[in-house]
Amino acid sequence: MRMPTTTSKGRGELALINRIRRRADKASGSGLSLGIGDDCALLRLKPGEEAAVTTDLSIEGRHFRLDLHPPESIGHRALARGLSDIAAMGARPVAAFLSLGAPSELTLPSLPKTPAWIDGFLDGFLTLAHKHKTPLAGGDLAQSQIAIADIVLIGAVPRRKAFLRSGAKPGDLLYVTGSLGGSSLGLRQLGSPGISPGDLAPHLWPQPRIDQGLWLQRKHAASAAIDISDGISTDLHHLCEESGVSGEVQSSCLPIFPGASLEDALNGGEDYELLFTAHPNTRIPRKIVGVPVTRIGVITKFRKANPRVLLVDAFRRSKPMKPLGWEHFRAATPE
Ligand SMILES: [Mg+2]
Repeated sequence: MRMPTTTSKGRGELALINRIRRRADKASGSGLSLGIGDDCALLRLKPGEEAAVTTDLSIEGRHFRLDLHPPESIGHRALARGLSDIAAMGARPVAAFLSLGAPSELTLPSLPKTPAWIDGFLDGFLTLAHKHKTPLAGGDLAQSQIAIADIVLIGAVPRRKAFLRSGAKPGDLLYVTGSLGGSSLGLRQLGSPGISPGDLAPHLWPQPRIDQGLWLQRKHAASAAIDISDGISTDLHHLCEESGVSGEVQSSCLPIFPGASLEDALNGGEDYELLFTAHPNTRIPRKIVGVPVTRIGVITKFRKANPRVLLVDAFRRSKPMKPLGWEHFRAATPE
C-alpha cells in the first residue's frame, strides 16, 4: 500500500491504510522480502524460477452487486479470480497487490461500532490470502463513484515448466477438477429466501485450485491447462485454439453441481476449476489434494471442416459445443 502524505489523503483514509497495513502484516509468505510501507514491495524468487503475473478487475454492477453479494464474498472472489489464474499455470502464489476504489460511505461504518463495508471486503480477501500463504504486499486506495477492486497476483513457477494453453496434443485426455455450473446456479438463487449456504458456496466462495495446480506441476502430469472463468465451452475453445487441436467432451461425464443444468455447466462461468490435458499414459488420480478430478473427454486432431469442440452424448450423438460462456463487453448483465 502506498503511504501517501496527508496532503493527498484525508485522515480517515490514512487511518484506513494503517488498518489495512496492520492486518496485511500478519499474512506471511515465503517470497516476500519487504511488504507494505515502502515505495515498492520486494519479492524473492527461488533459483530457477520465473514470475507468473496476472491482473483482474472487479467492478460493482458488472462483477458484483452491493445489494446481493456480502462484502466478505466480494473480497474473496476478487482474490480468487487471480489465484485461479496462478493455479492454472501450475505456479505458487508469492504476493498480491490490491487497488481499491470506493465511495466514502463504503469506507466508513454505517452505524457506530459496526465494521465498514471495506472491513468486510478485507476480511474475505485476507482470509483467502492467508489460506494460500499469499501476503498482501501493496496497492492503492482512492475514492470513486462506484466500488472497484483491481488485483495483481505474482506467482512463481520453475523456469519453462508453467502449464500453457498451447501444450495439448491429439490423444491427450481432458480432465476437470471439482464440479461445474454451481456458480451460475448460485448467482440465480442469490437473494431468494430459503436457499442453503451450501448451494450458494460455489458462487460466493469459489476455491482456487492452487494445491491441485502445484500437484500437477510437481508430477509433470499436465500437458496444458486453463482455469474455467468464462465457462468450459469458451475456455476449452481457448485451449484448443492455442494448441491447434480439437476437443471432444462426453456430456454424460461432466461433473455437474447438484441442481445445476447442463447449460450452467457449459456456459455459466466463474467456477474457477482447472481444465487440463494429460498424456494417456499419465496416471491421474480420482482426487488431487482432496478435490475430485473427472475425465471428461479427449483431444483430437483439428480438421478445418469440423467443429473445434464436439459435445458427445451417451448414444455417441455429437453436436458442436459452441463457445457461449461469459464474454467481456457482450452484455450488461448485472453480474
Ligand atoms: Mg484464466
